[in-house]
Amino acid sequence: MTTPLVRFAPSPTGYLHIGNARPALLNFLFARREGGRFLLRLDDTDRERSTEEFAGAIREDLSWLGIAPNLFARQSERTASYEAAKETLIGQGRLYPCYETPEELDRRRKRQLGRGLPPIYDRAALNLTDEERVAFEGQGRRPHWRFKLDHRVVAWNDLVRDESHVDCASLSDPVLIREDGTVLYTLPSVVDDAELGVTHVIRGEDHVTNTGVQVQIFEALGYPVPVFAHHNLLTTADGEGLSKRLGHLSLRSLREAGFEPAAVDSLAVLTGTSEAVRAVPTLDELAGLVDFGRISRAPARFDPSELDVINAQIVHTMPFAEARERLLALGIPEETAESLWTVVRANLVKVADAAEWWRVVAGPVSPVIQDAAFLETALSLLPAGPFDATTWKSWTEAVKQATGAKGRSLFMPLRLALTGLDHGPDLAGLLPLIGRERAAQRLAGETA
Ligand code: GLU
Repeated sequence: MTTPLVRFAPSPTGYLHIGNARPALLNFLFARREGGRFLLRLDDTDRERSTEEFAGAIREDLSWLGIAPNLFARQSERTASYEAAKETLIGQGRLYPCYETPEELDRRRKRQLGRGLPPIYDRAALNLTDEERVAFEGQGRRPHWRFKLDHRVVAWNDLVRDESHVDCASLSDPVLIREDGTVLYTLPSVVDDAELGVTHVIRGEDHVTNTGVQVQIFEALGYPVPVFAHHNLLTTADGEGLSKRLGHLSLRSLREAGFEPAAVDSLAVLTGTSEAVRAVPTLDELAGLVDFGRISRAPARFDPSELDVINAQIVHTMPFAEARERLLALGIPEETAESLWTVVRANLVKVADAAEWWRVVAGPVSPVIQDAAFLETALSLLPAGPFDATTWKSWTEAVKQATGAKGRSLFMPLRLALTGLDHGPDLAGLLPLIGRERAAQRLAGETA
Protein backbone atom coordinates (compact mmCIF):
# COMPACT_ATOMS: atom_id res chain seq x y z
CA MET A 1 0.00 0.00 0.00
CA THR A 2 1.25 3.52 -0.73
CA THR A 3 1.71 5.78 2.28
CA PRO A 4 -1.75 7.00 3.24
CA LEU A 5 -2.57 10.66 2.84
CA VAL A 6 -5.71 11.80 4.62
CA ARG A 7 -7.31 15.17 4.92
CA PHE A 8 -9.52 17.17 7.22
CA ALA A 9 -11.37 19.81 5.23
CA PRO A 10 -13.31 22.31 7.33
CA SER A 11 -14.79 25.51 5.99
CA PRO A 12 -13.48 28.51 7.91
CA THR A 13 -16.99 29.80 8.53
CA GLY A 14 -17.19 29.13 12.27
CA TYR A 15 -15.38 27.67 15.24
CA LEU A 16 -14.75 23.93 15.33
CA HIS A 17 -16.90 22.02 17.81
CA ILE A 18 -16.55 18.61 19.36
CA GLY A 19 -18.41 17.02 16.44
CA ASN A 20 -15.75 18.34 14.05
CA ALA A 21 -13.06 16.96 16.32
CA ARG A 22 -14.27 13.47 15.42
CA PRO A 23 -13.33 13.46 11.70
CA ALA A 24 -10.23 15.55 12.44
CA LEU A 25 -9.01 12.98 14.96
CA LEU A 26 -10.08 9.88 13.04
CA ASN A 27 -8.08 11.14 10.07
CA PHE A 28 -5.09 12.19 12.14
CA LEU A 29 -4.93 9.04 14.26
CA PHE A 30 -5.37 6.76 11.26
CA ALA A 31 -2.47 8.51 9.51
CA ARG A 32 -0.37 8.37 12.65
CA ARG A 33 -0.90 4.67 13.09
CA GLU A 34 -0.34 3.83 9.43
CA GLY A 35 2.75 6.02 9.06
CA GLY A 36 0.79 8.33 6.77
CA ARG A 37 0.38 12.08 6.47
CA PHE A 38 -2.39 14.48 7.37
CA LEU A 39 -3.46 17.38 5.18
CA LEU A 40 -5.38 20.33 6.58
CA ARG A 41 -7.41 21.76 3.74
CA LEU A 42 -9.49 24.88 4.18
CA ASP A 43 -12.62 24.64 2.08
CA ASP A 44 -12.91 28.38 1.71
CA THR A 45 -14.73 28.72 -1.60
CA ASP A 46 -17.55 30.55 0.15
CA ARG A 47 -15.79 33.88 0.22
CA GLU A 48 -18.60 35.73 1.95
CA ARG A 49 -18.66 33.51 5.01
CA SER A 50 -15.01 32.40 5.21
CA THR A 51 -12.78 34.55 7.41
CA GLU A 52 -9.12 34.66 8.37
CA GLU A 53 -10.12 34.72 11.99
CA PHE A 54 -11.86 31.36 11.70
CA ALA A 55 -8.97 29.98 9.61
CA GLY A 56 -6.54 30.88 12.39
CA ALA A 57 -8.87 29.52 15.04
CA ILE A 58 -9.08 26.16 13.23
CA ARG A 59 -5.30 25.77 13.33
CA GLU A 60 -5.19 26.76 16.98
CA ASP A 61 -7.99 24.40 17.94
CA LEU A 62 -6.43 21.48 16.06
CA SER A 63 -3.13 22.16 17.72
CA TRP A 64 -4.85 22.15 21.11
CA LEU A 65 -6.28 18.70 20.30
CA GLY A 66 -2.73 17.56 19.53
CA ILE A 67 -3.09 17.58 15.74
CA ALA A 68 -0.12 18.93 13.79
CA PRO A 69 -0.87 18.85 10.05
CA ASN A 70 1.91 17.68 7.72
CA LEU A 71 0.47 19.57 4.77
CA PHE A 72 -1.73 22.58 4.29
CA ALA A 73 -3.87 23.76 1.37
CA ARG A 74 -6.65 26.23 0.84
CA GLN A 75 -9.15 26.08 -1.98
CA SER A 76 -9.13 29.82 -2.60
CA GLU A 77 -5.55 29.41 -3.87
CA ARG A 78 -6.29 26.53 -6.21
CA THR A 79 -8.87 28.02 -8.55
CA ALA A 80 -6.77 27.38 -11.68
CA SER A 81 -7.11 23.63 -11.11
CA TYR A 82 -10.87 23.93 -10.77
CA GLU A 83 -11.04 25.97 -14.00
CA ALA A 84 -9.13 23.25 -15.81
CA ALA A 85 -11.47 20.56 -14.44
CA LYS A 86 -14.46 22.65 -15.48
CA GLU A 87 -13.17 22.86 -19.06
CA THR A 88 -12.53 19.12 -19.17
CA LEU A 89 -16.04 18.33 -18.01
CA ILE A 90 -17.59 20.81 -20.45
CA GLY A 91 -15.55 19.22 -23.25
CA GLN A 92 -16.99 15.83 -22.29
CA GLY A 93 -20.54 17.14 -22.24
CA ARG A 94 -20.70 16.32 -18.51
CA LEU A 95 -21.07 19.93 -17.38
CA TYR A 96 -23.93 21.92 -18.86
CA PRO A 97 -25.15 25.48 -18.47
CA CYS A 98 -28.52 26.18 -16.86
CA TYR A 99 -30.40 29.46 -16.67
CA GLU A 100 -33.28 28.78 -14.29
CA THR A 101 -33.71 31.27 -11.48
CA PRO A 102 -34.14 29.95 -7.93
CA GLU A 103 -37.82 30.93 -8.13
CA GLU A 104 -38.35 28.96 -11.34
CA LEU A 105 -36.68 25.91 -9.84
CA ASP A 106 -38.78 26.24 -6.74
CA ARG A 107 -42.01 26.38 -8.73
CA ARG A 108 -40.98 23.32 -10.71
CA ARG A 109 -40.16 21.40 -7.53
CA LYS A 110 -43.54 22.27 -6.06
CA ARG A 111 -45.31 21.08 -9.21
CA GLN A 112 -43.43 17.77 -9.09
CA LEU A 113 -44.26 17.30 -5.41
CA GLY A 114 -47.89 18.15 -6.16
CA ARG A 115 -47.98 15.32 -8.68
CA GLY A 116 -46.36 12.95 -6.21
CA LEU A 117 -43.07 12.95 -8.10
CA PRO A 118 -39.63 13.25 -6.50
CA PRO A 119 -38.36 16.85 -6.82
CA ILE A 120 -35.46 16.01 -9.11
CA TYR A 121 -34.08 18.50 -11.60
CA ASP A 122 -35.69 17.67 -14.97
CA ARG A 123 -32.63 18.50 -17.11
CA ALA A 124 -34.67 21.01 -19.12
CA ALA A 125 -31.51 23.02 -19.74
CA LEU A 126 -29.97 20.11 -21.66
CA ASN A 127 -32.54 20.70 -24.39
CA LEU A 128 -31.94 24.42 -24.81
CA THR A 129 -31.08 25.50 -28.33
CA ASP A 130 -28.20 27.87 -29.00
CA GLU A 131 -30.75 30.61 -29.74
CA GLU A 132 -32.47 30.11 -26.42
CA ARG A 133 -29.14 30.35 -24.61
CA VAL A 134 -28.24 33.51 -26.44
CA ALA A 135 -31.67 34.90 -25.57
CA PHE A 136 -31.15 34.17 -21.85
CA GLU A 137 -27.73 35.77 -21.92
CA GLY A 138 -29.30 38.74 -23.73
CA GLN A 139 -31.65 39.16 -20.74
CA GLY A 140 -28.56 39.40 -18.57
CA ARG A 141 -28.83 35.87 -17.15
CA ARG A 142 -25.60 34.08 -16.32
CA PRO A 143 -25.49 30.29 -16.34
CA HIS A 144 -24.89 28.02 -13.41
CA TRP A 145 -23.40 24.67 -14.35
CA ARG A 146 -24.69 21.23 -13.54
CA PHE A 147 -22.85 17.92 -13.65
CA LYS A 148 -24.68 15.36 -15.78
CA LEU A 149 -24.86 12.27 -13.62
CA ASP A 150 -24.84 8.83 -15.11
CA HIS A 151 -28.11 7.32 -13.96
CA ARG A 152 -26.55 4.28 -12.36
CA VAL A 153 -25.74 2.87 -8.95
CA VAL A 154 -22.33 3.88 -7.60
CA ALA A 155 -20.95 1.30 -5.18
CA TRP A 156 -17.89 1.26 -2.97
CA ASN A 157 -16.50 -0.74 -0.11
CA ASP A 158 -16.67 1.64 2.83
CA LEU A 159 -14.23 1.07 5.70
CA VAL A 160 -17.03 1.79 8.20
CA ARG A 161 -20.22 0.85 6.37
CA ASP A 162 -18.94 -2.07 4.24
CA GLU A 163 -20.72 -2.48 0.88
CA SER A 164 -22.28 0.90 0.20
CA HIS A 165 -24.08 2.36 -2.74
CA VAL A 166 -25.89 5.45 -3.97
CA ASP A 167 -28.42 5.29 -6.78
CA CYS A 168 -27.55 8.37 -8.81
CA ALA A 169 -30.73 7.97 -10.88
CA SER A 170 -32.61 9.35 -7.90
CA LEU A 171 -30.50 12.53 -7.60
CA SER A 172 -30.67 15.93 -9.26
CA ASP A 173 -27.67 16.76 -11.38
CA PRO A 174 -25.61 18.74 -8.86
CA VAL A 175 -24.71 22.37 -9.47
CA LEU A 176 -20.91 22.58 -9.49
CA ILE A 177 -20.50 26.22 -10.50
CA ARG A 178 -22.61 29.18 -9.49
CA GLU A 179 -23.85 32.06 -11.68
CA ASP A 180 -20.98 34.23 -10.49
CA GLY A 181 -18.46 31.63 -11.65
CA THR A 182 -17.48 30.49 -8.15
CA VAL A 183 -17.27 26.78 -7.46
CA LEU A 184 -19.32 24.92 -4.88
CA TYR A 185 -17.68 22.37 -2.60
CA THR A 186 -18.41 19.24 -4.67
CA LEU A 187 -15.96 19.76 -7.56
CA PRO A 188 -12.94 21.34 -5.81
CA SER A 189 -13.01 18.64 -3.17
CA VAL A 190 -12.56 15.97 -5.87
CA VAL A 191 -9.91 17.95 -7.74
CA ASP A 192 -7.94 18.56 -4.54
CA ASP A 193 -8.22 15.00 -3.29
CA ALA A 194 -6.94 13.77 -6.65
CA GLU A 195 -4.22 16.33 -7.33
CA LEU A 196 -2.89 16.34 -3.78
CA GLY A 197 -2.86 12.54 -3.67
CA VAL A 198 -5.42 11.87 -0.95
CA THR A 199 -5.69 8.10 -0.54
CA HIS A 200 -8.43 7.88 2.12
CA VAL A 201 -11.44 10.15 2.48
CA ILE A 202 -12.60 9.81 6.08
CA ARG A 203 -15.63 11.95 6.82
CA GLY A 204 -19.08 12.02 8.37
CA GLU A 205 -21.95 9.94 7.03
CA ASP A 206 -23.73 13.16 6.07
CA HIS A 207 -21.48 12.96 2.98
CA VAL A 208 -22.58 9.52 1.75
CA THR A 209 -24.72 10.96 -1.06
CA ASN A 210 -21.90 13.31 -2.04
CA THR A 211 -19.70 10.26 -2.40
CA GLY A 212 -21.98 8.81 -5.06
CA VAL A 213 -21.71 12.05 -7.03
CA GLN A 214 -18.03 12.57 -6.38
CA VAL A 215 -17.05 9.05 -7.45
CA GLN A 216 -18.60 9.89 -10.83
CA ILE A 217 -16.57 13.11 -10.98
CA PHE A 218 -13.33 11.30 -10.07
CA GLU A 219 -14.04 8.86 -12.88
CA ALA A 220 -15.02 11.52 -15.41
CA LEU A 221 -11.76 13.36 -14.74
CA GLY A 222 -9.76 10.14 -15.06
CA TYR A 223 -8.60 10.15 -11.46
CA PRO A 224 -8.21 7.12 -9.20
CA VAL A 225 -11.04 6.86 -6.68
CA PRO A 226 -9.84 7.05 -3.05
CA VAL A 227 -10.92 4.70 -0.29
CA PHE A 228 -13.91 6.02 1.68
CA ALA A 229 -14.83 5.76 5.36
CA HIS A 230 -18.03 7.46 6.52
CA HIS A 231 -18.29 7.61 10.30
CA ASN A 232 -21.41 8.21 12.37
CA LEU A 233 -21.98 11.74 13.62
CA LEU A 234 -21.76 12.90 17.21
CA THR A 235 -25.10 14.00 18.58
CA THR A 236 -26.20 15.16 22.00
CA ALA A 237 -27.91 12.61 24.23
CA ASP A 238 -31.35 13.53 22.86
CA GLY A 239 -30.16 12.95 19.32
CA GLU A 240 -29.72 16.61 18.42
CA GLY A 241 -27.01 17.21 15.84
CA LEU A 242 -24.07 19.42 16.72
CA SER A 243 -23.93 22.53 14.64
CA LYS A 244 -21.44 25.31 14.82
CA ARG A 245 -24.14 27.22 16.68
CA LEU A 246 -23.86 25.01 19.77
CA GLY A 247 -21.27 27.38 21.14
CA HIS A 248 -20.69 25.68 24.47
CA LEU A 249 -19.37 22.62 22.66
CA SER A 250 -16.95 24.60 20.53
CA LEU A 251 -13.38 23.48 21.09
CA ARG A 252 -12.45 26.93 22.30
CA SER A 253 -15.15 27.06 24.90
CA LEU A 254 -14.19 23.59 26.12
CA ARG A 255 -10.59 24.77 26.37
CA GLU A 256 -11.63 27.92 28.21
CA ALA A 257 -13.76 25.83 30.56
CA GLY A 258 -10.57 24.02 31.57
CA PHE A 259 -11.06 20.64 29.94
CA GLU A 260 -7.98 18.63 29.02
CA PRO A 261 -7.48 18.05 25.30
CA ALA A 262 -7.02 14.33 26.02
CA ALA A 263 -10.53 14.23 27.50
CA VAL A 264 -12.03 15.82 24.39
CA ASP A 265 -9.92 13.55 22.15
CA SER A 266 -11.03 10.42 24.00
CA LEU A 267 -14.69 11.34 23.96
CA ALA A 268 -14.71 12.48 20.33
CA VAL A 269 -13.04 9.29 19.14
CA LEU A 270 -14.51 6.56 21.35
CA THR A 271 -18.17 7.63 21.57
CA GLY A 272 -20.30 5.58 19.20
CA THR A 273 -17.79 2.75 18.86
CA SER A 274 -17.68 -0.65 20.52
CA GLU A 275 -14.78 0.58 22.69
CA ALA A 276 -15.75 1.75 26.18
CA VAL A 277 -15.65 5.55 26.44
CA ARG A 278 -12.82 6.29 28.84
CA ALA A 279 -9.83 8.53 29.34
CA VAL A 280 -6.96 7.63 27.04
CA PRO A 281 -4.06 9.85 28.06
CA THR A 282 -1.97 9.84 24.89
CA LEU A 283 -2.74 10.13 21.19
CA ASP A 284 -0.54 7.11 20.45
CA GLU A 285 -2.72 4.95 22.68
CA LEU A 286 -5.84 6.46 21.16
CA ALA A 287 -4.49 5.78 17.65
CA GLY A 288 -4.20 2.12 18.62
CA LEU A 289 -7.93 2.09 19.38
CA VAL A 290 -9.09 3.53 16.06
CA ASP A 291 -10.76 0.72 14.17
CA PHE A 292 -13.22 1.72 11.45
CA GLY A 293 -14.83 -1.71 11.66
CA ARG A 294 -15.85 -1.01 15.26
CA ILE A 295 -17.56 2.31 14.63
CA SER A 296 -21.28 1.89 15.19
CA ARG A 297 -23.85 2.56 12.47
CA ALA A 298 -26.14 4.33 14.96
CA PRO A 299 -25.52 7.99 15.85
CA ALA A 300 -22.75 8.57 18.38
CA ARG A 301 -24.80 10.01 21.24
CA PHE A 302 -22.96 11.62 24.07
CA ASP A 303 -23.83 13.45 27.21
CA PRO A 304 -21.63 16.53 27.71
CA SER A 305 -21.38 15.64 31.40
CA GLU A 306 -19.29 12.62 30.33
CA LEU A 307 -16.57 15.16 29.69
CA ASP A 308 -16.35 15.85 33.42
CA VAL A 309 -16.00 12.16 34.15
CA ILE A 310 -13.28 11.59 31.56
CA ASN A 311 -11.50 14.80 32.46
CA ALA A 312 -11.41 13.76 36.10
CA GLN A 313 -9.91 10.39 35.11
CA ILE A 314 -7.12 12.19 33.30
CA VAL A 315 -6.45 14.66 36.10
CA HIS A 316 -6.35 11.91 38.74
CA THR A 317 -3.25 10.38 37.20
CA MET A 318 -1.69 13.52 35.73
CA PRO A 319 2.00 13.87 36.60
CA PHE A 320 2.95 17.06 38.42
CA ALA A 321 5.19 18.21 35.56
CA GLU A 322 2.16 18.41 33.30
CA ALA A 323 0.10 20.46 35.75
CA ARG A 324 2.96 22.61 37.12
CA GLU A 325 2.65 25.70 34.93
CA ARG A 326 -1.06 25.94 35.47
CA LEU A 327 -0.75 25.48 39.23
CA LEU A 328 1.76 28.31 39.43
CA ALA A 329 -0.55 30.45 37.30
CA LEU A 330 -3.28 29.82 39.88
CA GLY A 331 -1.05 31.52 42.45
CA ILE A 332 0.06 28.33 44.19
CA PRO A 333 3.63 28.87 45.44
CA GLU A 334 6.33 26.86 43.72
CA GLU A 335 7.62 25.23 46.92
CA THR A 336 4.18 23.81 47.77
CA ALA A 337 2.81 23.07 44.31
CA GLU A 338 4.09 19.52 43.96
CA SER A 339 3.06 18.29 47.40
CA LEU A 340 -0.32 19.97 47.04
CA TRP A 341 -0.79 18.32 43.64
CA THR A 342 0.04 14.87 44.97
CA VAL A 343 -2.44 15.27 47.81
CA VAL A 344 -5.37 16.81 45.94
CA ARG A 345 -5.34 15.59 42.33
CA ALA A 346 -7.57 12.60 43.07
CA ASN A 347 -10.24 15.05 44.25
CA LEU A 348 -10.27 17.23 41.16
CA VAL A 349 -12.38 17.32 38.03
CA LYS A 350 -10.26 20.04 36.43
CA VAL A 351 -6.73 21.18 37.15
CA ALA A 352 -8.00 24.62 38.10
CA ASP A 353 -10.04 23.10 40.94
CA ALA A 354 -6.70 22.80 42.77
CA ALA A 355 -7.10 26.51 43.60
CA GLU A 356 -9.95 25.68 45.93
CA TRP A 357 -7.77 23.22 47.90
CA TRP A 358 -4.95 25.71 47.99
CA ARG A 359 -7.37 28.12 49.65
CA VAL A 360 -8.27 25.41 52.17
CA VAL A 361 -4.56 24.99 52.91
CA ALA A 362 -3.51 28.62 53.02
CA GLY A 363 -6.75 30.04 54.36
CA PRO A 364 -8.76 31.84 55.24
CA VAL A 365 -10.94 28.95 56.37
CA SER A 366 -13.88 29.45 58.71
CA PRO A 367 -13.81 26.33 60.84
CA VAL A 368 -17.06 24.46 61.44
CA ILE A 369 -17.17 23.73 65.17
CA GLN A 370 -19.61 21.09 66.38
CA ASP A 371 -18.14 20.12 69.74
CA ALA A 372 -15.78 22.72 71.16
CA ALA A 373 -14.73 20.55 74.09
CA PHE A 374 -13.68 17.70 71.81
CA LEU A 375 -11.66 20.11 69.68
CA GLU A 376 -10.05 21.61 72.77
CA THR A 377 -8.77 18.17 73.72
CA ALA A 378 -7.59 17.59 70.16
CA LEU A 379 -5.77 20.92 70.20
CA SER A 380 -4.04 20.09 73.48
CA LEU A 381 -2.74 16.87 71.89
CA LEU A 382 -1.57 18.52 68.64
CA PRO A 383 2.14 17.61 68.27
CA ALA A 384 4.81 20.27 68.02
CA GLY A 385 5.69 21.19 64.45
CA PRO A 386 6.90 20.77 61.86
CA PHE A 387 4.28 18.30 60.64
CA ASP A 388 5.01 15.44 58.30
CA ALA A 389 3.16 12.54 56.67
CA THR A 390 2.99 10.63 59.99
CA THR A 391 1.57 13.48 62.08
CA TRP A 392 -2.09 12.88 61.30
CA LYS A 393 -1.92 9.21 62.30
CA SER A 394 -0.11 9.70 65.57
CA TRP A 395 -2.21 12.71 66.53
CA THR A 396 -5.60 11.09 65.79
CA GLU A 397 -4.41 7.97 67.68
CA ALA A 398 -3.77 10.17 70.70
CA VAL A 399 -7.17 11.93 70.33
CA LYS A 400 -8.85 8.55 70.11
CA GLN A 401 -7.18 7.37 73.31
CA ALA A 402 -8.15 10.53 75.14
CA THR A 403 -11.77 10.87 73.97
CA GLY A 404 -12.84 7.35 73.02
CA ALA A 405 -14.07 8.70 69.68
CA LYS A 406 -13.34 6.60 66.64
CA GLY A 407 -14.11 6.30 62.94
CA ARG A 408 -16.31 9.02 61.54
CA SER A 409 -16.99 10.66 64.92
CA LEU A 410 -13.24 11.02 65.40
CA PHE A 411 -12.32 12.25 61.92
CA MET A 412 -15.31 14.35 60.83
CA PRO A 413 -15.16 16.98 63.60
CA LEU A 414 -11.45 17.38 62.91
CA ARG A 415 -12.02 17.72 59.18
CA LEU A 416 -14.82 20.27 59.67
CA ALA A 417 -12.65 22.35 61.98
CA LEU A 418 -9.48 22.12 59.90
CA THR A 419 -11.01 22.65 56.46
CA GLY A 420 -14.51 24.04 57.02
CA LEU A 421 -15.74 21.24 54.73
CA ASP A 422 -17.17 17.76 55.19
CA HIS A 423 -15.27 16.26 52.28
CA GLY A 424 -11.90 16.51 50.65
CA PRO A 425 -8.47 15.00 50.20
CA ASP A 426 -6.77 12.75 52.67
CA LEU A 427 -6.04 14.75 55.83
CA ALA A 428 -2.75 12.93 56.38
CA GLY A 429 -1.55 14.72 53.26
CA LEU A 430 -3.37 17.99 53.86
CA LEU A 431 -2.37 18.55 57.50
CA PRO A 432 1.37 19.08 56.88
CA LEU A 433 0.46 21.62 54.21
CA ILE A 434 -1.90 23.47 56.57
CA GLY A 435 0.87 23.49 59.14
CA ARG A 436 0.78 23.67 62.92
CA GLU A 437 -0.02 27.33 63.35
CA ARG A 438 -3.13 27.45 61.18
CA ALA A 439 -4.28 24.03 62.39
CA ALA A 440 -4.14 25.23 65.99
CA GLN A 441 -6.05 28.42 65.18
CA ARG A 442 -8.78 26.53 63.34
CA LEU A 443 -9.16 23.98 66.12
CA ALA A 444 -9.66 26.92 68.45
CA GLY A 445 -12.46 28.17 66.21
CA GLU A 446 -10.56 31.05 64.66
CA THR A 447 -10.79 31.86 60.96
CA ALA A 448 -7.28 31.29 59.65
N1 GLU B 1 -15.84 21.18 3.74
C1 GLU B 1 -16.57 19.96 3.82
C2 GLU B 1 -17.29 19.91 5.15
O1 GLU B 1 -16.87 20.57 6.07
C3 GLU B 1 -15.64 18.79 3.68
C4 GLU B 1 -16.31 17.51 3.52
C5 GLU B 1 -15.34 16.44 3.12
O2 GLU B 1 -14.65 15.93 4.01
O3 GLU B 1 -15.24 16.14 1.94
O4 GLU B 1 -18.31 19.26 5.29
